[in-house]
Amino acid sequence: MTKLPSHRPARVVSANSIDRGALDQDALRVVSRLTRQGYEAYLVGGCVRDLLIGRRPKDFDVATSAHPRQIKRLFHNGRIIGRRFRLVHIHYGDHIIETATFRRDPESRMLGDTESEAENTGGERELEDLLITEDNEYGTAEEDARRRDFTVNALFLDPVQNEIIDYVGGLRDLQDNLLRTIGDPMVRIAEDPVRILRGVKFATRLGLRIDEPTWKAMVELSPALSRSSPPRVIEEILRLLRSGSSLGAFRMLRALGALRVILPMIDAYLGDPENAADTERANLFWRLLEALDNEVHAGYQPGNAVCLALLALRTIEREADPRTRTLPGEAKTLDQVCAEVLEPLAIQARLGRRDCAKAQRLILLQPRFTQPASRRFRPLLFVRSEEFPEALELFRIRTTARGQGWDVYEGWLERQKAAHEASPEEVEAERKQSKPRRRRRRRRDKGSGKGSGGSSGGGSGAD
Ligand code: ATP
Ligand code: MG
Repeated sequence: MTKLPSHRPARVVSANSIDRGALDQDALRVVSRLTRQGYEAYLVGGCVRDLLIGRRPKDFDVATSAHPRQIKRLFHNGRIIGRRFRLVHIHYGDHIIETATFRRDPESRMLGDTESEAENTGGERELEDLLITEDNEYGTAEEDARRRDFTVNALFLDPVQNEIIDYVGGLRDLQDNLLRTIGDPMVRIAEDPVRILRGVKFATRLGLRIDEPTWKAMVELSPALSRSSPPRVIEEILRLLRSGSSLGAFRMLRALGALRVILPMIDAYLGDPENAADTERANLFWRLLEALDNEVHAGYQPGNAVCLALLALRTIEREADPRTRTLPGEAKTLDQVCAEVLEPLAIQARLGRRDCAKAQRLILLQPRFTQPASRRFRPLLFVRSEEFPEALELFRIRTTARGQGWDVYEGWLERQKAAHEASPEEVEAERKQSKPRRRRRRRRDKGSGKGSGGSSGGGSGAD
């Protein structure tokens, strides 16, 4: 094995502590076929970490010495994907095993131990220059481990030999419940500031303590998140919201100063933690996240629009109320305020237009849950509308956060059941009920020479 100077040899230990029954059969098939053909192949990353701490891995990734075309030759069900760095997706029905060739960081950063590098330059190295823009060089297993972000994410499992291979001290850190970057945290985080968000995710989701130098680098380099790719940042924000530990994660982002950079409007809403009124307001937001986490623990998987709606809801409510508004100009209708808050978020985080528009609709639909039925508002049609299920999810989380109003929620569940059982004639009858008035109104509008115009919104505040 070729070893870089100053690197400790790999620690190889038995994988007996891992429950073999928890291993994915398809991933095992991929590893054993590659190994039989003379290639090195391991399970890597999050799955090894999760198996070692007794959690069920989300997915099983494979790293190998075989190059993409060599992998493809062995697996008729393999498809090469990716333009910049090519990997192979091996399909078993709709289950995919991502199989990547060992990769290394570009040569310039692999000259030696990153710690001694930082020492040599007296820490004066321009961190700006470190941002990774290309990472498409093949390498050895050790190089592949070292280019990963945190020590606990760089463990290799060889299921054939039943061994764990640790090049970076990840086993010890996992035992100590410690999250630490591989190499100098200032260098590794400057290379890719999104690692700050990943660090927050792993620390909060897995209950790991962040090592002091790593924490310091996360604080110091949080402003650099403004230079990271917005789609990657928003993807990590959404992952945090779905993680089941969003409350801890967003509190940590705030403590780091990262929230101010990635979601300035939400950070401003949370205000000053020393101020009692601000804290009371902030608690409205924290309670929503707490409610979301409880739901996630019970098996709920929120979609992007629900996550975005939850993120923006409190800020929108605040800005829609003339007494609490902070944005310039007079208070407007709820749909205008939704646009005011969500659009900068969409532009700044380059959020998908569709997700944003849907989040806006989900917020605007909220007043309907407490609105009495009328000629104009037919609950049966609302319940059968495309956006109802997610609007109801948002309403349920708000109800949990408020700790009251379950009877209203249950009422909607009943209506939902009834709507599914409704005959086509009943639905048609509801439709007819809601139509004549619209026609009459249109005629009236025509008569008065006015356009229909008006707001598409639900009118008043969201709560
Ligand atoms: P999860 O359980 O959330 O999927 P994971 O550890 O599997 O966690 P992924 O985002 O799926 O995380 O990435 C797989 C692996 O790729 C990681 O474990 C890590 O080794 C490596 N990795 C991912 N993102 C980065 C990054 N930004 N910098 C360095 N290594 C990374
Ligand atoms: Mg993963």
